This record gives sequence, structure tokens and C-alpha cells, in this order.
Amino acid sequence: MGEFELIRRYFLPLSPTTPQQVGVALGQGDDAALLNLPPGHQLAVSVDTLVAGVHFPAPNHDAVAYDPANDSPAHDSPADLGWRALAVAASDLAAMGADPQGFLLAITLPENDQPWLLSFSQGLAAASRAFALPLVGGDTTRGPLTLSLTVMGSLPAGTALTRGGAQVGDLILVSGPLGAAGEALKWLHGPKAHDEVQNEAVSTLLHRYWHPQPRLALGQWLRGKATAAIDISDGLAADLAHLLTASGVGGLIETARLPMLPALLKLAGDAAIDLALTAGDDYELCFTLPGNTRWLAAAEAQGCVQIGEIESSPGLRLATTRGVRNFSPKGYDHFGQ
Ligand code: ADP
Ligand code: MG
Repeated sequence: MGEFELIRRYFLPLSPTTPQQVGVALGQGDDAALLNLPPGHQLAVSVDTLVAGVHFPAPNHDAVAYDPANDSPAHDSPADLGWRALAVAASDLAAMGADPQGFLLAITLPENDQPWLLSFSQGLAAASRAFALPLVGGDTTRGPLTLSLTVMGSLPAGTALTRGGAQVGDLILVSGPLGAAGEALKWLHGPKAHDEVQNEAVSTLLHRYWHPQPRLALGQWLRGKATAAIDISDGLAADLAHLLTASGVGGLIETARLPMLPALLKLAGDAAIDLALTAGDDYELCFTLPGNTRWLAAAEAQGCVQIGEIESSPGLRLATTRGVRNFSPKGYDHFGQ
């Protein structure tokens, strides 16, 4: 099977099909895709690259789809990877408040492994449907397994949520529980001894790692309400620090308010708070609302939790039972020392 047959078989089915996707005037198959933007709209565009062995465990050809009844919690099915790759990329659209428009997939494959491609494309298709984000084109090459996804969304001009607008007195919120994906990574990197009770918790956390839910609807709802927003890919503290710097303000987080899943508390114990602060991969949103907001209750009804407040003094501070201290986050840095 050649390159074009491979594209036709596995990636053409993810083309736009429904009338809601009329924004795509021309999809896969020509030299470029054509997208229509509604009048007065801006294009939000972002690219994310995932490299096997760096961003996800290198494929294990003995792995089967994860079965919680199975004794081993390690799972890395290509379908999970397909979901996660698009979810991670779409999370940047959520953080901008954009309406999904379409995505491009540049895929580098070591071999034409049909069972792998079938499973991968099924996971990718499930995410593409779930996020209303059709595949409009891409590039297929041979080499070490690498995925590069470019996502595009549209926004009424001037309404994008950026990192730069937080004001002193604003409330800091997150859209859901933190730290779970970080703990899951430990279980992925090396099977540990675990009992049956732990098994359920491990499977919950692995699901958080492999099936992140980009907060697209929340991001759209936050347009005209949030003063700043960022998605949490590298860890709450590191990503919030970017938002604080871009806004020229500081922030205080009350650690007792950090939302965490019971499964994380069960497996990580005292380390859970540290994971909630510093572990990445959860793809929740962190955003700020004006202090006198009437939207707090509506945000809470959507699963958001207030974790702190914007202050004038630069930097990030933590309020714990032992008082307030400065916190310098170290997010993941590919070229860091
Ligand atoms: P060109 O040589 O003009 O750059 P290609 O031969 O790379 O075109 O691709 C042919 C068509 O197939 C294009 O429309 C491209 O967008 C699409 N395509 C290639 N690879 C993928 C992929 N992985 N996913 C979706 N569409 C793809
Ligand atoms: Mg061409």
C-alpha cells in the first residue's frame, strides 16, 4: 500500500462531512485546503508536535487496548494516542476561546503498520467527531514516529482570550482536577506492584492521561467574561506563571482549594498537592474572572473551581496551613538544564 492509498484509507474518513462544517470549502485532496471564515472573524491557529519516546511512550507492538479487568495497568493503544494527540492540540483553541474549524496532520511513520494505523485513525476520528474538528489536510512521510497537528479555529474579531489581561483583584480559576495525568505517567513509565483496589485508581488516572477533554465549550463561554486564560500543559504553576508575566501581575494560590481526584489522593498521598501544582498533561484551563463577577457561580456549575486571586506584587505565592511562601515553578523545558 502506497502513501496515497494509506492517506485515502486512514485519513480521508476524517474529512468534513456534515453541514455544520461548511466553514471548510475544500478539504483533503488538493494542494491546499480552503476555509471560509464568517465575516468579522479571526483565525486562531496553533501547532503541536508529539515525538515517540518524548511526548508519549514509544509504540509497544505487544500492547493491546487497555482493559481495566486485565491485571496490567500499562496501556498505550494507538487509538488512545490518536485521541490524545488531537485533544492536546485542540486545548490551545479552548484556551483562546475559539470555535473549532479544522486541523492538519503531519505524520511521520517508521513503517506501514496497518493495525497500528487503523487503531490510531479510529482514536483520532473519535476525537475529531467529539471536538467537531474535521481533518482538512496534512503530510505523510517516513521516519521516526512523530505527529504534528495544526488546529484552526475562528473567533469574532477582538474576542480571543489571551494570557495578558489579568487585573489585580481578579479571581483565579481552574476548569477541573489537576495532577492526575502526572501521576499516570509514573505508572506508564514502569509497571509498579499494585493491588486490586489500586488498579481501579490507576485506570482512572490513565484515562485522564490518554483521554484529556479540551475545554472548548467552556473557552467559548468565557469570551467576554474571562480577563485572561491559558491551558495547563506543563503544570499549573508553570502555566499560571506565564499568564501572570504576560499580564504584569502576581498571584496567590490557596493549596487547600486545588481540585484533585480521589484516585490521585489514594495513589500519590502527600505528593498529590505537588503533582497538582507542577505536573502537566491535564489540559484543564486556568483563567481569571473579575473579582466582583456575577459569573463565578455559573463557572462553578461547569466544574470550575476558584483557587486563588491576582495580586499586584509579581510572582506566584502559595498559601498553605503554614503560611504564605513564594513558589518558583519549573515547567517542562525541552532544552532546560
Ligand atoms: P503536495 O505534494 O501537493 O504537498 P501531498 O502529496 O503531500 O500534496 O498530499 C496530497 C493530499 O493529501 C493533500 O490534500 C494533503 O493535504 C493530503 N494529506 C497528505 N497526508 C495527509 C494526512 N496525514 N492527513 C490528511 N491529509 C493528508
Ligand atoms: Mg501540491
